[in-house]
Amino acid sequence: MPETTDRDSRRLLRRLRDTLADEGEGQQRLDRITSLIADSMGTDVCSIYLLRDSDTLELCATEGLKPESVHQTRLRVGEGLVGRVAGEATPINTPDAPAERGFRYMPETGEESFSTFLGVPIQRLGETLGVLVVQSRGTRDYSGDEVYALEVVAMVLAEMAELGAFVGEGAAMAARHQQQVMIQGGTGQEGAAIGHVLLHEQRVVVSNPVADDPEAECARLHEAMDNLRGNIDDMLSATMGGAGEEHTKVLEAYRMFANSKGWVRRMEEDIARGLSAEAAVEKEQSAARARMNRVPDAYLRERLHDLDDLSNRLLRLLTGKGRASLDEMPGDPILVARNIGPGELLEYGRALKGVVLEEGSVGSHATIVARALAIPLIIHADRITTEALNGDPILVDGDQGLVHLRPEETVAAAFLDKIAMQEQAQERYASIRDKPAETRDGVRIALHMNAGLMADLPSLPGSGAEGVGLFRTELQFLTRTTVPRRGALAALYGRVMDAAQGKRVVFRTLDIGSDKVLPYMKREDEPNPALGWRAIRVGLDKPGVMRMQLQALIRGAAGRPLSVMFPFIAQVQEFGDARRFLLDEIERERALGHVLPETLEIGAMLETPSMVFAPRCFFETADFISIGGNDLKQFFFAADRENERVRKRYDTLNVSFLNLLEMIVKRCAETGTHLSFCGEDAGRPIEALCFAAIGIRTLSMRPASIGPVKSLLRRADLSQVRAAIDQARAEGVQSVRPAVMEWLNAQS
Ligand code: PEP
Ligand code: MG
Repeated sequence: MPETTDRDSRRLLRRLRDTLADEGEGQQRLDRITSLIADSMGTDVCSIYLLRDSDTLELCATEGLKPESVHQTRLRVGEGLVGRVAGEATPINTPDAPAERGFRYMPETGEESFSTFLGVPIQRLGETLGVLVVQSRGTRDYSGDEVYALEVVAMVLAEMAELGAFVGEGAAMAARHQQQVMIQGGTGQEGAAIGHVLLHEQRVVVSNPVADDPEAECARLHEAMDNLRGNIDDMLSATMGGAGEEHTKVLEAYRMFANSKGWVRRMEEDIARGLSAEAAVEKEQSAARARMNRVPDAYLRERLHDLDDLSNRLLRLLTGKGRASLDEMPGDPILVARNIGPGELLEYGRALKGVVLEEGSVGSHATIVARALAIPLIIHADRITTEALNGDPILVDGDQGLVHLRPEETVAAAFLDKIAMQEQAQERYASIRDKPAETRDGVRIALHMNAGLMADLPSLPGSGAEGVGLFRTELQFLTRTTVPRRGALAALYGRVMDAAQGKRVVFRTLDIGSDKVLPYMKREDEPNPALGWRAIRVGLDKPGVMRMQLQALIRGAAGRPLSVMFPFIAQVQEFGDARRFLLDEIERERALGHVLPETLEIGAMLETPSMVFAPRCFFETADFISIGGNDLKQFFFAADRENERVRKRYDTLNVSFLNLLEMIVKRCAETGTHLSFCGEDAGRPIEALCFAAIGIRTLSMRPASIGPVKSLLRRADLSQVRAAIDQARAEGVQSVRPAVMEWLNAQS
């Protein structure tokens, strides 16, 4: 076998391209390709194994093995040498296959006479589609050049597979992107949605993997690289001064990669072998992705991630394809992205029916925006960006964290039924919209809504809420690159109050820091951000932004009643200091001759267990207290609310937690302090019922939860629920949920 030169490689790729361009079914093409490769490389065998499903490889074409084994021989990923190549996504090159770890002899193929084995993964963007194998008699060493040449061929095959070249009669390969896929992710925001995929990042399919003129391709690559470097420099100078350190660090890593000689050299070598500039970028990107999946070190993974993002930018420059545009949106778009920033998500806005992210986290900014927009959001949907194509039908089940891509009819029908039932329930709730949440034994519970955007306010009248029990003010800060101006904030707060038409709105001051970092705020890495320098701690230590926000609230109120609540108070003095800030600002506004709020309520969020045991003066000075159950629960059970593994581990109706809540009820009753609950649990009907039964009289929740909660409360006799809870507690149960459910079932 002669050394494989660049010229040989180019000749082989050209023959491959011509074969692929020929008329014919997928199977014929695959057959021709195997004989072509065997001939070009001077090997006795060339075989193509393709994945039938995520775990099964099938011999789909061969030159040299027994023809009758085609479509008969199957093996699992990880099984035998071929399975190992697929499982580990790396080549295996051995002169003595039977001696190799994991070797499995497949008698039906007649492969016993071929002991030299070289297998490379057929992969696209880090996703393995199959394995390309050459084998020879006797002992022969495949050179590094030959391994490389085969990898280049495998890359072209993967690209062709993506374009559907191997689909057809005899179905050598089931059509990719046509089968149903179900992905189990995590819940970012509950709710169900049905629609069509809108890819945030346009998927680049390289339609010309093989090129004739390496010089011209190299010139294209260099031009695109120059543009890329220019773009990065522009982004860097745009961020100078204002941007967060993290953002600058990422851009600097980008610049380092863009100037990396190794990266460019590898792509030049790929081009010399006959790939087009786009295919060369994608080949290196694919290799980086495969590495990304294997690297355990988080820092290195991040850097490979940067390289991946950079490759995408380079591909977009080479192909002229960009981000999804709003005009291209299908009528019922469900956004699919690897990740997305809060500003970008807001730009799509309420036109989106749902969002599916490959990454994301429960506490990320995008999740906060999705919650504010009340759009179902799935996070950690593994491989969704590789599986989904623009316009694919998609079902999003935010409650279960499930995504059905290209669902089969029966799945779609069942899902439609579920949505229809939810809609019917919403209609039923509409009929009690203007009725009070009064229980059968005459207890009135005030139901308020949580909000975070001006756009949320129109849902206030329709939801039946008595007011806004929690207005989260982070979003206006998170979605900008600079601190918002006081005038603009005051105008916004004023509009929120206008839209509430005299109903009470409780503004919570900025709960930011640590994990929720503002782009313009200096970031310091903290080992445990949720327990770190956040919320009121930042506000008190660096009061500039908090003072400005308080001024904006006073001015926004423009003579109307104002309710302000401070987040994450952990000891009484923090509340005293924060309160003092607000009173000082009132004095300042008075001195300036500005109109003051008609009335002022200053409250605290109770989100740390320490405050349950705070001195009595805390309960006396607070005009109201709102339980931030999301945080209180995570600190009480020491279970991170963002950690999928533990966040649902402890039941809210666990007796310990209920006892804690009851203690708060008691302490507030002693001082006559108004108490509400505004964490997510307030919107879950059973939880809401139990909170009411232990004496919490105000609940604040997502607008969509008000109907279900009100409906259950109106059917319940609180004293009976209370009795069921007390009895369960006396029996020493861990959670009162089963007892309450039993009581409920006995009612219907
Ligand atoms: C809470 O912690 O319950 C709460 C309402 O605040 P957030 O979810 O914004 O932390
Ligand atoms: Mg909180």
